[in-house]
Amino acid sequence: MKLCDLHTHSDNSFDAKNSVDEMCQSAVKCGLYAIAVTDHCEAPMIKEGKNCEYGSFDELIPKSIADTLEAKRKYASKLNVLCGIELGEPMHDPECTKRALSYGDYDFTLASVHNLRNMEDFYYIDFANTDINEILKLYFDELAETASFQYFDSLAHLTYPLRYIKTKTGIIPDLLPYYNQIDEIFNILVKNNKALEINVSGLYKELGTTLPDEAIIKHFKELGGKYITIGTDAHSTEYVGKGIKEGIKVAKKCGFSQYTIYEKHVPIMIDIV
Ligand SMILES: [Zn+2]
Ligand SMILES: [Zn+2]
Repeated sequence: MKLCDLHTHSDNSFDAKNSVDEMCQSAVKCGLYAIAVTDHCEAPMIKEGKNCEYGSFDELIPKSIADTLEAKRKYASKLNVLCGIELGEPMHDPECTKRALSYGDYDFTLASVHNLRNMEDFYYIDFANTDINEILKLYFDELAETASFQYFDSLAHLTYPLRYIKTKTGIIPDLLPYYNQIDEIFNILVKNNKALEINVSGLYKELGTTLPDEAIIKHFKELGGKYITIGTDAHSTEYVGKGIKEGIKVAKKCGFSQYTIYEKHVPIMIDIV
C-alpha cells in the first residue's frame, strides 16, 4: 500500500531540526510514496518581520518552498515530494494570510489553530490554573471559523490543546460536551469539500491516540466526510512516516476505504488495502 506522510517540518520551521533533503532521504528509507513538507507559518506573526520570535516568515517560507522544489526534482524517481505549508491562525489577520499564500505555489495547505485570538500558544497555557472548559469552547469556535476559510485543504490536529492539557494536568477531558461544536466544524468541512487530518503524533506522545481520536474521526465519516489526510507532524528525521500505517488502520476502522494526498490542491485518492 502507498504510504504518504502529509505533515512534516524541516529546519525552515523554528522548532524542527533537519533539512528538507534529510527529511526526504528518511522518507525514501522508510518506503514512503509521498511526503509533504509543511513548514510553520503563523500567519498573524508575519507582520513582525525579523522581530518575530519564530524567525522571519518572509524568509523562512520562500526558503522552505525553494528547498522543497529542489527535493522534488532530486527525488522525482523515488518519492513524490509535495510542497506544503502549515498555515497557523489563518482567520486572525486576513492581510497576513494573503501574504502567506502568495509566497509560492503550494500543493497542499494545512490549516491550524495553535493559539486563540489574543492568547499565547496552548503550549504555554497553565492549564492547572485555567478554566479548561472555557478554553476548549473557544478553541472549537475558532476551528469552526477556520473550517469556513476558503484557501486550505486539510484541517490539522483537531483536539491539539489536549496534548498540553494532558501534560500539565494529567487528565484528558471528555469531549462529549463539545460534540455539537465538533458537528458544526465537520458540517462546514463536508460542505466545502475539505479534508480532516489524522495526526498520528499523539500515538507516541502523552495522548496515546491520534488527534483527533477514533470516535471523532468516525463521526466525521458519519456526517459525510470524504477526505482525510494522514500526517506524522515529524519535526526530525526519525519521525518521518512513523505511525502512518497505524493512522491508515484507524481510518479503515472508521469506515474510510481511501485517504487523500494533494497536488496543486487537487485531491488524489489513495486506496486503503
Ligand atoms: Zn501544528
Ligand atoms: Zn505541524
